[in-house]
Amino acid sequence: MKFTAEHDQFRKVVRDVVENQINPYVDEWEAAGIFPAHELFPKLAAVGALGLEYSEDMGGQGADHSFTVVLGEELGRADCAGIPMAIAVQTSMATPAIAEFGSTDLQQRYLAPALRGELVAAIAVSEPDAGSDVAGIRTKAVRDGDSWVITGRKMWITNGTQADWLCLLARTVEPGQEPEGGYSGMSLIVVPTNTPGFSVGRKIEKMGNRSSDTAELVFDEVRVPVGNVIGEAGRGFQQQMAQFQIERLMGAYMAVSGARRAIDRTIDYLRVREAFGKPLLANQVIQYRLAELIAEVDVVREFCYAAADKVVAGEDATRMATVAKLKAGRLVREVADAAVQYHGGMGYAEDLWVARYYRDARLVSVGGGADEVMLRIITMLEGMGKR
Ligand SMILES: Cc1cc2nc3c(=O)[nH]c(=O)nc-3n(C[C@H](O)[C@H](O)[C@H](O)COP(=O)(O)OP(=O)(O)OC[C@H]3O[C@@H](n4cnc5c(N)ncnc54)[C@H](O)[C@@H]3O)c2cc1C
Repeated sequence: MKFTAEHDQFRKVVRDVVENQINPYVDEWEAAGIFPAHELFPKLAAVGALGLEYSEDMGGQGADHSFTVVLGEELGRADCAGIPMAIAVQTSMATPAIAEFGSTDLQQRYLAPALRGELVAAIAVSEPDAGSDVAGIRTKAVRDGDSWVITGRKMWITNGTQADWLCLLARTVEPGQEPEGGYSGMSLIVVPTNTPGFSVGRKIEKMGNRSSDTAELVFDEVRVPVGNVIGEAGRGFQQQMAQFQIERLMGAYMAVSGARRAIDRTIDYLRVREAFGKPLLANQVIQYRLAELIAEVDVVREFCYAAADKVVAGEDATRMATVAKLKAGRLVREVADAAVQYHGGMGYAEDLWVARYYRDARLVSVGGGADEVMLRIITMLEGMGKR
């Protein structure tokens, strides 16, 4: 991955938004359990951060994936992981399917305003009884004339209490028929949240990523036009899988840059904190542990760059995205643990950044596919397991 002056310029403007429009408000938004997406997203759109890889006729920037790397790295430097995650949902999880497979009408009504930051989007795949195993979803959309009538529940939905529309994965069925099982018969459907029958069941209180609202959503005979299906009905699972590599890479870019920042902040602290008559950083055992973590960050970052190069070249990066997500998730847990350890009591207090980082970091190994799901994909790619 080679960054140019154009990347540097983009990095600068995103850093400016993070430092001036996000970080000063993080404490307030973490305490509130939500951030004002409708106020923040237009600011990100103004610097071209919401539609990087989307074509200009849809309102995007027409940039290649290398700019998404920069976006992820800069968002990873925020003082929390919740808001970066919510932004990544808007840029890389709720919108790719509609951009790639959606009709021009859906793109104009839902995608373009999302890229301008006017409409907030969410991706609604997980359910109370189905997370890792997407084939277990039960939310159903039954055809009734020109409409789909949707019934079911979705769980853990980021931006869930403030989204204007959802990219919903449901089992689409003709009247009187039973849903197909397994990975067949699912469709991605755009559901505006002002449709009668839709409601937020509850906002979920979480250990970390608290500034991001996460919700359980209820669909009680929610009626949307047949044309709200994204692309071909019945292909939703495959469309969803296709976008997982970018979602997982984005998660890894953010995690890696956040980890490096956490190490740097820990070093700054250890330089001035003294024990036994010298700065804590003077202890070689601590230096070596931090050096080890820095080395691991370097390795995962370079791996992420190689994966990004594959995406830029239009090649399949499934395997690399899977490995990057797995390794980034494991690494941030180690970095967060070291940060708490070396800050001593202050690592356990809410006074500094460390406790929040520790809580937030834990999500990387669970959200967007747990570590075991990444390992499962690798076993399948290696011919050891099957679906
Ligand atoms: C803060 C947050 C935000 C989220 N945002 C969204 C969102 O916007 N949209 C959305 O659709 N979903 C979202 N999710 C859901 C997330 O993707 C799921 O939580 C995740 O995929 C795991 O699913 P699950 O929670 O149902 O865990 P389960 O599927 O119940 O799995 C529990 C654990 O079992 C283990 N496990 C699972 N499968 C295997 C296996 N085959 N072999 C061995 N071990 C295994 C893993 O350790 C896993 O963590 C979010 C979750 C959180 C916590």
